[in-house]
Amino acid sequence: MSDGVAAVSKFLTWSVVDGPGNRFVLFLQGCNYRCITCHNPHTIGICNDCGTCVAVCPSGALTKTGRKVVHDPGLCVACDSCLAACPTRANPMVRRMTVEDVLALLRRNAPFLNGLTVSGGEATLHLDFLIDLFAAIRAAPDLAHLTLFIDSNGHLAAEGWQRVLPLTDGVMLDIKAFDPDRHRRLTGTDNKLSLASARLLADAGKLYELRFLLVPGETDRPEEIGALAALARELDPNIRLRLNAFQLHGVRGSAATWKAMPRDGVEAAAAALAAAGFSNVAVPSVWLP
Ligand code: SF4
Ligand code: SF4
Repeated sequence: MSDGVAAVSKFLTWSVVDGPGNRFVLFLQGCNYRCITCHNPHTIGICNDCGTCVAVCPSGALTKTGRKVVHDPGLCVACDSCLAACPTRANPMVRRMTVEDVLALLRRNAPFLNGLTVSGGEATLHLDFLIDLFAAIRAAPDLAHLTLFIDSNGHLAAEGWQRVLPLTDGVMLDIKAFDPDRHRRLTGTDNKLSLASARLLADAGKLYELRFLLVPGETDRPEEIGALAALARELDPNIRLRLNAFQLHGVRGSAATWKAMPRDGVEAAAAALAAAGFSNVAVPSVWLP
């Protein structure tokens, strides 16, 4: 989908954890990774209007109209039964939004915002929409104060980045694992493009933050933390690093039986990075009991 239209799973009118300052965050539907640790697996798939979810909706908010499954927000009780029932990890509540729809929302909230972050799913799957949206904001004098950021897993070739980076102020990049076999096992995908993207973004001065999800027994291993430190040192010794902790919330499949990442494990990884010379390492500020 493009021509100025994208599938939006959710938006936040303000957030202080998705880049600098207070930001509007747009979550686009669909991902090119299949992370077994994903906290929002219903953002991965694209709805094919199969209709499976219609029967489990308790409030009549989903109907089949011709070939399409239609969601009525006025009837929805937000029970999420449809998400659990979907065989393709899609979401029938996704809405189609145009560039103009997003501009209208931004204008309504503009006095309180420092910027826009486009996230996912995987934001760069919607490259044409991203470019159209960012170009429209750049052309709008009343939105000139907004910085434009992308939250990405980095699975985008250099040619793609070259199209969107001139319009982009910064990218928050997730590296899921350094060992290629571990990355493939955790995400279903090779990590070559993500690592190449880290270098490309740093060279372009657009890498705002490198993020790393700590998974017990997997990415918290010393060789993974060592590889993170080595890449960070190569990119920029003053780089912003953010350690995230695997939690069970929302996770389906085999990873639902894994242990959550403990706080002391995150602190140990942060201490190892501090000992390696990195002074800008963020860790989760909130821990579930
Ligand atoms: S959201 Fe999933 S279950 Fe519902 S119609 Fe789309 S693909 Fe089928
Ligand atoms: S969350 Fe899904 S299943 Fe629940 S009421 Fe809304 S549309 Fe129906």
